[in-house]
Formats: sequence, C-alpha cells, structure tokens
Amino acid sequence: MTFDSLGLSAGLLRAVADQGYTEPTPIQQQAIPAVLQGQDLLASAQTGTGKTASFTLPLLQRLTSASGNGRRTPRALILTPTRELAAQVGDSVKTYGKYLPLRTAIVYGGVKIGPQFKQLRQGVDILIATPGRLLDHVNQRTVDLSHVEILVLDECDRMLDMGFIHDIRKIMGLLPETRQTLMFSATFSRPIQQLASTLLNNPVQIEVAPRNTTAERVEQVVHPVDRHRKRELLSHMIGFHNWEQVLVFTRTKHGANRLAEQLAKDGLRTAAIHGNKTQAARAKALQDFKSGRVRVLVATDVASRGIDIDQLPYVVNFELPNVAEDYVHRIGRTGRAGNEGRAVSLISDDELHLLSKIERMLKQPLDRDIVPGYEPSFDMKAKPVEPVEKPRRRSGRRPSGAPSRGGAKPVAHAGAQSYGQRQAAPKKRVQSA
Ligand code: AMP
Repeated sequence: MTFDSLGLSAGLLRAVADQGYTEPTPIQQQAIPAVLQGQDLLASAQTGTGKTASFTLPLLQRLTSASGNGRRTPRALILTPTRELAAQVGDSVKTYGKYLPLRTAIVYGGVKIGPQFKQLRQGVDILIATPGRLLDHVNQRTVDLSHVEILVLDECDRMLDMGFIHDIRKIMGLLPETRQTLMFSATFSRPIQQLASTLLNNPVQIEVAPRNTTAERVEQVVHPVDRHRKRELLSHMIGFHNWEQVLVFTRTKHGANRLAEQLAKDGLRTAAIHGNKTQAARAKALQDFKSGRVRVLVATDVASRGIDIDQLPYVVNFELPNVAEDYVHRIGRTGRAGNEGRAVSLISDDELHLLSKIERMLKQPLDRDIVPGYEPSFDMKAKPVEPVEKPRRRSGRRPSGAPSRGGAKPVAHAGAQSYGQRQAAPKKRVQSA
C-alpha cells in the first residue's frame, strides 16, 4: 500500500515523501481513511508505530478541505500528557503541514506564558497543548475553544496516570458538542474505555501491535548485580563496549540527578531529564543527546515519554520501573524505525519481584547474564514465570547459551572476553509484549 491510495492531498503527499516514508504503517493504513471520513477513533497504539502521522495527516487535510471559521480560534486541539510530547507532536504537525497554509501553536507549562499569549492572539488553526497550561490560558481568556472541530487526545492512558482526568473533563466542557474526537492510548484499560464511552460517538476501533512485536525486536538482557555496584557496572559497560548514545532510566528524579553527577565524575558526558528540570534544561539535554554532545541521558519515566530518537541503540534500566507496562515503554525507545536495539536491565536483589512482574507481563523469562567481575552477592533464585495462560509445551531445543528458566547464568570469567563474543551465542529475542 502507498500513501497515494489513502486519499491524501498533493501537499501532504509531498511532505510525506520529503520525510522519505514510502509505505504507511499499519495504524496509518487504518486510521487515515477513517479520520478523513470524519469518524471518531479509538486507537490503541504506542509510540513508534507512526501514530502521530496517523492523526496529523488526515487532520491537516480536513482542516484545509473544510472552509475555516473565519475566526482566528483553534479548529483542532491536540492534548498530550507531557511537554516533550507536545513539542514533538508540534514538530510533526509543522513537518507534515509545511505546504499548507495552517497556523500551529504549541502551549505547555514550564516556560513563560507571555510569548504564548502573543502567538494565540495572532491566530491559530491547530493548537497542541498540555492540559494544565491550556487551562491557564482558558482562565486568562487568551484562548477560545468553542470552535474546535477536531480533538485529539494523545497518550490518553498516560494522561489518566498523571491525574489529568479533571482537567480533561473541564476542557471537554469548553468544546462544541459536535466535533470529531480521536483517542490514542497504549492500552484499552477500563478507565480508558469509560472515558471513550463518554467522549466518542460510534468510534472506529483500531488496535495495532506495538512495533516491537512485529517490525523490530529488542534484544533484552538482565544483569544481576549488587545495588551499590550498579553505577560502577554501568560506567564499565559504557566504556568497555564503547556505547556512544545510551538512555538510562532511574525511578526517581533524585536518583536521576545523583546518577548523572556520578557518571559525569567518571568522565562520561551525561545529562539528566526529569520533571523538576525547567523546560529549557530538558530541551537542551535532549538536543545535546540527539546531537551526540551528551553521551548518556539519564531519565525518569515521565520525562522520557515522547522522546523520539531514531536508531537509539541502547536503553539501560538502572532501576526497574514499579509498573511493568513502563518497562515496555522504556525499551520501546530502542529498536525503532527498522533498527535493532538492546535493552539492558541492572537488577539488584530488592528488584527481583519487579522482574517477575515484568516477565509475567511479557509471558517470557528474560536472559540473565552475570558480568564477570560484577558477580552479585545474592542468589538469583529461580524465578519461574507464573503461567498466565495455559502453559505452552516447548518444542525444540533451548538455544545453547540460553539460561535455564529464570536461573542466573554465570558467564565464565573470561578475562578479556568481549561483549561481542558473549553476544555470539545464539541470540534470544524476546518480544516486548
Ligand atoms: P510515532 O509512533 O508517531 O512516534 O512515530 C515513530 C517514528 O516513525 C517517527 O520517527 C516517525 O517519523 C516515523 N514514521 C512515521 N510514519 C512513518 C512511515 N510511514 N514510514 C517510516 N517512518 C515513519
């Protein structure tokens, strides 16, 4: 299938071609025709599936084909949970809409509100916003939402997780009742379905597999290590394997700061990105990471949402997330756009229960690999994956080198044995749910 067959206009096809896209992704194939027809949408799709273009392209087309309202108030509103995602969606809207005469504004907190007033006053067709800052504008009467024709709720599950439900409901009350609404969420949890039932009108439902389960797979490995040696092991791995661009996850903002400071002391160019940083500091850290000035970016889960860096080769879980689904979001940062990625988790004994939760969710055990010189003092007791479904009978042989179920597999202490050599054992790819 090509983009031409989806019914997009020449200006949009040109912008898509400029990006080098040749084929629409599965979510684009399904969502674009439905949105062009004016239908509501409930789509389950994660970052990395091409979901942004799946709503942006038809939205742009609908705004250009229908006559404007003659006013200068937003005709499309896109809500996102985080500033980073708002900025990235804004970039996509500008990229895909570059040949169209539409005006875009992005408003989010953490930056001065003055320039946003000015931009809104100049007139906006498409407004991309985080809920809190949007309501600030509503309160100051600097934005009028009463002529919104299309509403997009991006990463809805995350908006609910972050406690935005009241803000969302308030915003809904300011929009016209007759409008097109598109909801995107990584999961169809009960709260999402409830929200959908109140916001959507006979929606088309689309569910696409996360890209990791189909197009790409992320190679995942767990390194058991004592907690107090994690930082040392991380520095060792980055240096030893010459990793040039590593995204490292910690559980807390404080932990992210501390780790970034320690890695910097180890001589690694490091930056941290989390909710307590100013927007300018977050944008700079991300930019420096993308450009290669910073080699290690330490992030918390919320701050990492929406980070879109193609070809990010390594993601490290310095600490496992409390919520198993966040593991999938984290490792989804690697192995994108046709590239293979590697997700490494450093696990101390206090995290074994989190590891089992993740393995239960993945319905697969993850490979354990003890790094020579960093043997843990605890016992990686067999952590059987509790079957969620009927256990499938395993046929065929276990690849040599793969660990027995859940048990730690010490790698022979081979002195200068290289990572490459260790990797040379048949690779075990684990689908990331
Ligand atoms: P998203 O899921 O919207 O975060 O998009 C993930 C990445 O896929 C972004 O870097 C997009 O630029 C890229 N992308 C979107 N659509 C396509 C396509 N049809 N072909 C190739 N890459 C795409």
